Amino acid sequence: MMKNGDVTAIFGEKVFNLPTMRERLPEATYEAFLKTINEGTKLDYSVAEVMATAMKDWAIENGCTHYTHWFQPMTGLTAEKHDSFIQPTQDRTVIMEFSAKELVMGEPDASSFPSGGLRATFEARGYTAWDPTSFAFIKDHSLYIPTSFVSYTGEVLDKKTPLLRSEVAIDKAAKRVLKLFGKSPSRVVTYVGAEQEYFLVDKKLRNKRKDLLLTGRTLFGAKPAKGQEMDDHYFGQLKERVAAFMKEVDEELWKLGVFSKTKHNEAAPAQHEVAPVFSTANIASDHNQITMEILKKVANHHDLYCLLHEKPYEGINGSGKHNNWSIGTSDGENLLKPGKKPAENVQFLLFFAAVIKAVDDYSDILRVSVATAGNDHRLGAHEAPPAIVSMYLGDQLTEVVTQLINGGGVKYEEGELIETGVETLPDIERDTTDRNRTSPFAFTGNRFEFRAPGSRQSIGGINIVLNTIVAQTLTEFADILDCSRNIAKDALELAIKTFKEHQRILFNGNGYSDEWVKEAERRGLLNLETTPDAMPYFKSEKSVKLFEAQGVFSRIEVETRGEIMMQEYNNTLHFEMLTMLEMANQEILPACLKYTKSVAKGVIAKKELGIDAPNEIAMVQKLTALTEELMDRIAVLDNATNVPELDPYATGMYYKNTVIPAMEALRTTADTLETIVGKDYWPFPTYTDLLYSI
Ligand code: ADP
Ligand code: MG
Repeated sequence: MMKNGDVTAIFGEKVFNLPTMRERLPEATYEAFLKTINEGTKLDYSVAEVMATAMKDWAIENGCTHYTHWFQPMTGLTAEKHDSFIQPTQDRTVIMEFSAKELVMGEPDASSFPSGGLRATFEARGYTAWDPTSFAFIKDHSLYIPTSFVSYTGEVLDKKTPLLRSEVAIDKAAKRVLKLFGKSPSRVVTYVGAEQEYFLVDKKLRNKRKDLLLTGRTLFGAKPAKGQEMDDHYFGQLKERVAAFMKEVDEELWKLGVFSKTKHNEAAPAQHEVAPVFSTANIASDHNQITMEILKKVANHHDLYCLLHEKPYEGINGSGKHNNWSIGTSDGENLLKPGKKPAENVQFLLFFAAVIKAVDDYSDILRVSVATAGNDHRLGAHEAPPAIVSMYLGDQLTEVVTQLINGGGVKYEEGELIETGVETLPDIERDTTDRNRTSPFAFTGNRFEFRAPGSRQSIGGINIVLNTIVAQTLTEFADILDCSRNIAKDALELAIKTFKEHQRILFNGNGYSDEWVKEAERRGLLNLETTPDAMPYFKSEKSVKLFEAQGVFSRIEVETRGEIMMQEYNNTLHFEMLTMLEMANQEILPACLKYTKSVAKGVIAKKELGIDAPNEIAMVQKLTALTEELMDRIAVLDNATNVPELDPYATGMYYKNTVIPAMEALRTTADTLETIVGKDYWPFPTYTDLLYSI
């Protein structure tokens, strides 16, 4: 626990970060290492040797007995296998050792991680390789070393390696464009700030629900009397238990070097958000994984459970992960900063146009990047953002783009003041971009905010796609402009031409209105409502060409990755279906039968006494009819468990068209029963219990 409010005293204390390295490494080693992380140069083996010993000594001093290569397999979770530092000696004692080889490379048995058939089971070897750009850290008495995970033949099996490749792609493409403007920064990187939403629930109550336990979301549950209609939770006062939880989360994250910055209550009851200060995409991705782990772990300390699922409760807002994304140079220039006069800032306009073109050209792949079974409950359901990919540029940039398209000049409303009307408060300068909360992809002043990602997703996959598609359009721009003799004029013309050609992707209205669905269709924009609808686009020829051209995925990597993602959807639905059946058969049905019986008994007893109870008789009839319906619907879903043997994509369609409707039907009946069966008889906590328990 922190003694006072000084975060600097604990920040990064569990990280083998630069200050610790400077203190513990010989100067030459430190300088060589800095060059690697700042300029992307290859790391010398001798550096790794010195590094390994220094890391080990530091880890042991801080209580570690083990180290682990920490990687991110295609499950979207992280994986770790711990080895102790011990090394037996001649005299049958041990010494603590950690070699360069152990730091640089690991060889976990990879056969149990999804590979889409890439790695035949007889060739179970996978390799983990140290990512020096993401610092090692300490958790639970182990030294965690962030690593990539690849197969014996070099194909990637994880989310980090392609993210690093996509960073290389954007670096290369952006530098080509910048060179035309006479600039040559040593590196161009993408920055990401991921706002993480989550729900908290009382752990004891959560453990009483098989659905929450096994699938992370409620598969049953009638609407509570009070939902989020009152709008009283967003930015509301933090409850004591929640505040104590958040305080510990912050402290843990700071110790692990995560720039945790913002915390608040979200729109739904028991929903919250935590956001860090942005960092480079790779680090942001590692840190987001750490954040999700810490949220879970710390919740446990407070008898809470953290639900990271995209839609824990039906009828209540789901959780997303806003991915704030920008491109910047090693010289500190944000390439998406419009400046005071964006219409005259040709370099900005070109990068801006590149993003617009990328999102329009590859909206299908961008949609795939956020397609999961959990996220299907948000996108395409009546909740922001919609499944249709469109962009919102904000008032000022919309004006700029419109004027440029129409060939007019641009008016500026610089630094317009909003009067607060209160004497003692300073007037605040109005943001040049207003908010459109319904837009899936919004420009917010100096970055784009991709709002479609699901709360439980790794942001690795999302930023691989974002980086790659923008690298692709920047490459195309560089190809066109390479032989330009008047870059200012030619680049401006290219930007304007791009704005004209991609106007259809720009939309400032209400993203979840029915009119937009129609309008988007008229514009020829895709509306891929579910994962099985979206996923085939990933393996299209266009997609393969894109990833190959940018050196991010090979053809086989695209194909296997598509299958893995599809398989994950199918597995999720399969578990949900089975869990639902178990709850219906073993818990809900017996409760309904028992309650009906007790009401019926009362009716019989009254009849013996000659008392008329017509309403109770009607109730028994109603309960019986609904219970019969419940049993019919259980039978339908039970029948659906005979999943035909098809390829993963066709199987996905089966889940969408056959299983999901059967699950929804069963839920409707069960939820109706919940509202009339006595509370004491209902077998598990209700929405009101779960949402208002803390
Ligand atoms: P809001 O909820 O109002 O959108 P937050 O403050 O919750 O904003 O989160 C905004 C996120 O965007 C933070 O993680 C922040 O660090 C990040 N961010 C700010 N500037 C940039 C930038 N240039 N590039 C990437 N991310 C950025
Ligand atoms: Mg926020």
